[in-house]
Amino acid sequence: MGNRFQGLDRFAAGAQYIGGRLRPGTSGRGHTVVDPATGDDVLTYALAGSADVDAAVAAARDAFPGWAGATPAERSEAMHRFAARLAERAEEFAQAESLQCGKPIKLTREFDVPGTVDNTAFFAGAARHLQGQSAGEYSGDHTSYIRREPIGVVGSIAPWNYPLQMAAWKVLPAIAAGNTIVLKPAELTPLTSLLFAQAATEAGIPDGVVNIVTGAGKEAGEHLVGHPAVAMTSFTGSTAVGKRVAEIATATVKRLHLELGGKAPFVVFDDADLEAAAHGAVAGALINTGQDCTAATRAYVQRPLYDAFVTAVADLMATVRLGDPFDESTDLGPLISHAQRDRVAGFVDRARSYATVVTGGVAPHNDGAYYRPTLITGAAQDSEIVQAEIFGPVLVVLPFDSDEEGLALANDTPYGLAASAWTRDVYRAGRATREIKAGCVWVNDHIPIISEMPHGGYKASGFGKDMSTYSFEEYTQVKHVMYDNTAVARKDWHRTVFGDR
Ligand code: NAD
Repeated sequence: MGNRFQGLDRFAAGAQYIGGRLRPGTSGRGHTVVDPATGDDVLTYALAGSADVDAAVAAARDAFPGWAGATPAERSEAMHRFAARLAERAEEFAQAESLQCGKPIKLTREFDVPGTVDNTAFFAGAARHLQGQSAGEYSGDHTSYIRREPIGVVGSIAPWNYPLQMAAWKVLPAIAAGNTIVLKPAELTPLTSLLFAQAATEAGIPDGVVNIVTGAGKEAGEHLVGHPAVAMTSFTGSTAVGKRVAEIATATVKRLHLELGGKAPFVVFDDADLEAAAHGAVAGALINTGQDCTAATRAYVQRPLYDAFVTAVADLMATVRLGDPFDESTDLGPLISHAQRDRVAGFVDRARSYATVVTGGVAPHNDGAYYRPTLITGAAQDSEIVQAEIFGPVLVVLPFDSDEEGLALANDTPYGLAASAWTRDVYRAGRATREIKAGCVWVNDHIPIISEMPHGGYKASGFGKDMSTYSFEEYTQVKHVMYDNTAVARKDWHRTVFGDR
């Protein structure tokens, strides 16, 4: 079954969603969304300029008092309707996401869209469970309590690899906590963020609570981050751009949440289930054509299993079917663009001089941005292919001897987003989960995420959490309220100012 999503019809009014309606961008520059599986144009839209960002921030600021003042139950009910609306439109969202990203339709139907519906339902419930420390008479003479308050207008910036889920991860905790938001998706992939905001409006979430500006990073992105009426920046993207975003946000003293790059290790101890580890490595490396910040990228395999693991992974990679994203039998779609395909090929081609490409390393044709699953061995730990984020269907395998060495190698990159350990030994698993420096460590699996649990990095992978009630730590501010209980005019502590008593 082919694509039925018609971007041109849907966004004829423009690709900026501000104050509950679509309008065209005013930057004077356009951008074309391209289907990476065919190279065909999907939609040409006018990019947002500074004036559009200003309009979106003004809409969000206007909507803030009403939304922040709604009861948790009111926000929760609107968000439950939002989840229901998303579920009703699931197939449309799956098609739009597959079209703009080249994702296999089975991935968008079974992962991106249901995950987003579940996230929305989760935050609809969580909106009623904002918690704080209990009130108490800590000084004896006062009662203290905590107010957990929304921050205001949140400015968020998202990448192209999971456009719908990234929009959801940014928007949902922010609005559940009573903030309003302006989200800038990646230029390449605006479609599902716009549909998501429209669904929010259809569900009765007030105009201006969720706004989308689709513009270039340097122009709309930097203007949003530096905007004086934006109280917080939440950014997901590369570590390089994250550093620039941090500079601008710091200069305007904003709260900052950064979800950055990853280079996840996959540590296989010599007692592991080899078949499970090989399947886990191939699925973990190839999901979303490897364009996943938590993808398995570096497999460290203890020497006794090393040769068998390399053979098993190469054999499994050969069974993965590249093809039309809208064909239900397709396992692996193209990369997001020909430019990204060429970037990935560049990493692999440079690695040929110092490592072995066991399988893959080939772009099968030039019609779409496809690249075959690629397995590399013989690379040194400090080589580019082991250290840099490639963001493509490429797995590097290295051997190790002692457990200590395997864990040290796992920690030896600037990143710390996710990792996995493969063993049947509970003590080895325990040591790995304690010693690996990453925001998530799986044991005997790699990739699954769940709405109830946080996602976020250590080290150069950033700070702050998406998903789960931990994300409320980013999207709320804590106020201490202290009441005097004595009703005495001259309080005991005044002696420090008024002399001895
Ligand atoms: P990117 O950093 O190039 O772009 C991300 C977003 O930032 C885009 O919307 C882009 O327009 C915008 N941007 C670019 N320059 C900007 C600037 N100067 N100021 C403000 N905004 C700017 O990343 P990408 O190529 O879209 O996505 C891939 C990256 O995202 C990878 O590094 C991946 O690991 C990371 N990622 C991380 C997570 C996570 O949860 N940690 C999740 C998904 C993707």
